[in-house]
Amino acid sequence: MAIIDLRSDTVTKPTDEMRRAMAYAEVGDDVFGEDPSINELQERAAAMLGHEAGLLTTSGTMSNLLATLTYCNHGDEIVMGDQAHMFWNEGGGQAALAGVQTRLIPQNASGGINAEDVARNIRPAGNPHVAATKIVCLENTQNRCSGMVMTTAETKAVCDVAHEAGVAVHLDGARIFNAAVALEVPVMELTRDVDDASFCLSKSLSCPVGSVLVGSKDFISEARRWRKMVGGGMRQAGILAAAGLVALDTMVDRLAEDHQNARRLAAGLANIDGLSVDADSIQTNIVIFDVDEKVAKVPDFMKALVDAEVLVSYPGEHSVRMVTHRHISGDDVEEALSRTSKVVRELQG
Ligand SMILES: *Cc1c(COP(=O)(O)O)cnc(C)c1O
Repeated sequence: MAIIDLRSDTVTKPTDEMRRAMAYAEVGDDVFGEDPSINELQERAAAMLGHEAGLLTTSGTMSNLLATLTYCNHGDEIVMGDQAHMFWNEGGGQAALAGVQTRLIPQNASGGINAEDVARNIRPAGNPHVAATKIVCLENTQNRCSGMVMTTAETKAVCDVAHEAGVAVHLDGARIFNAAVALEVPVMELTRDVDDASFCLSKSLSCPVGSVLVGSKDFISEARRWRKMVGGGMRQAGILAAAGLVALDTMVDRLAEDHQNARRLAAGLANIDGLSVDADSIQTNIVIFDVDEKVAKVPDFMKALVDAEVLVSYPGEHSVRMVTHRHISGDDVEEALSRTSKVVRELQG
């Protein structure tokens, strides 16, 4: 019996092609702007997403922080959906390090945020009583909303109201390529209306480390200054960028396979008495399902799954998350379902 690891797509290992590219990568000192592999990755990523310039960062968390630091002063406000990763899972860095406060707006049933809610929650600069809104943050795909996608039209609607109010839009696109593949559109359609966007190389794209932030030349040059300040100037990180270039060539189209496996997984989970998930709502590679109290409390359910060698993660009180990725085959999905079903039966037994 082998462990089936469905905790996250961050567990994916680099491919042989990536390892070869890393071994022979041309490198230079990137703090001087002289790493050819990093420069190529930044240019490629910016072009793909429809922006002028790019910046390699250590992580999605760092990209999101750099965007906030670049747009905001202490005491400003940033607006985002109430399920945003930036709010839930980044250690409070926006408040602690950028000195901003976060205003949450409700996410709608399809996982997005409504342009009307955004418009209502933007607060203008110049009033000493209020924290001025500097950015609206979008997320695509939406991690805590079971990997739902925001469409081009939904993205544009939010950008229009934000821009009308003079507010920038930052896209946390950790899994933006999953969104593009699910919608069958070029990724640029989902990224060109926002002021800047970030995506992770280290998740479904199988690279060991890294994220790329893209935006205008001015934005990226200011973000680069902040990156140095927070200790993210990684000298010869072309070793990492080389894997990123391979990922952009070879890892995007295959995401459709992960999405198909996630739908199959969700359909199987929906058939297990005591678990609930709307299998038709699964659009990408994240499946979040509820565990009925009559089966077990979630921590006990997860312990039993670990004993059955199925690893999952735990986003909320009654819910469990399974993520499909490059190392999960159709057979693994069937095996994970059969182990999960057995665990549920035994817990009720
Ligand atoms: C994973 C993730 C991040 C953060 O990425 P790290 O590289 O783990 O710091 C940001 N946003 C979303 C939506 C994510 O899923």
